[in-house]
Amino acid sequence: MSGAKKRLLSGMQPSGNGRLHLGNYEGALKPWVQLQDQYEMYCFIADWHAFTTLAGTDVSIADQSRQVALDYLSAGLDPEKCAIFRQSDVPQHAELAILLGMLTPVSWLERVPTYKEKREHLENYEGGGEVGASYGLLGYPVLQAADILIYRAHAVPVGKDQAAHLELSRAIARRFNFLYNTEYFPEPDAVISEVTGVLPGLDADENGKLRKMSKSYHNAIYLSDTPDQVAERLKNAFTTPSKIRKTDAGIPEGCAVCLLRKLYDPAEYNVQWEECRNGTRGCVQSKRETTEVINTFLEPLRTKRAEYENDPAELDRILARAAEKARATAEETLRGVRQIMKIV
Ligand code: SF4
Repeated sequence: MSGAKKRLLSGMQPSGNGRLHLGNYEGALKPWVQLQDQYEMYCFIADWHAFTTLAGTDVSIADQSRQVALDYLSAGLDPEKCAIFRQSDVPQHAELAILLGMLTPVSWLERVPTYKEKREHLENYEGGGEVGASYGLLGYPVLQAADILIYRAHAVPVGKDQAAHLELSRAIARRFNFLYNTEYFPEPDAVISEVTGVLPGLDADENGKLRKMSKSYHNAIYLSDTPDQVAERLKNAFTTPSKIRKTDAGIPEGCAVCLLRKLYDPAEYNVQWEECRNGTRGCVQSKRETTEVINTFLEPLRTKRAEYENDPAELDRILARAAEKARATAEETLRGVRQIMKIV
């Protein structure tokens, strides 16, 4: 392997509308930006994975992948330090997935909790173009293992509650090494990011409890939102239901607007919280101020994004250069796998 730095692999799907939100930023992009100096970093856009929910729809994965690339760059991933590329530009991921699939027991895949959840969700879904629970959905963890092992990555960043997601990739690496009596694949370690907590979305469930920010709940603020879109989203956000008038007391701890203010304005938020509690402030003012705080935070990201949006050829070059580097590393790994498996 080249260089002294250990390799780290991370990636996100261009699913939903392809745009990443503040929850993705806090939970993934921010820690990735901090890690790019420490590791030889490969940061891919998992476009094949997105087909587990988008196959048969007319969504342009290519367009959505570009949006994810723009989000990566606007959040501060530096193409000089980190290879940003599309999974589909490195077909070696697929070859390794086929080979690893040959030695992964089906029972391991059927036990994956997210498979069970997604299968039920897809089977109950009546939208046009869906194909239900596919072979690709069942095999998702094998492709995921291939994504990591094709770079013989030592590390994968995961949130505090997601370390289990990596376990199957580690098990597949161990199985390959055991069956072929080799130590070819390192077992990738989880790099646990100290996330501030799950970022609240802008709505609540039927019990009035805030839900996490998620594309599928349509409760997110996107990194690519314009200032007006942020204002509109916060205008419609969930607040303390019993606070009808300004003089009613609110509960900032259970309120999306003021929790976001706390996160993005830790020095000043307490005045807002105190005045809400004692009924001397209304939600309109809180929403207006929180909008300003979030727009101030997003401004540098918007500026960076605009640079690349205005120069699509440069974005193409970044993706192509990174894919070339990724293909070279991946092909080197595959050459070893083909020899160990006696294909060549
Ligand atoms: S003032 Fe803030 S914390 Fe209080 S209810 Fe309104 S939005 Fe929520």
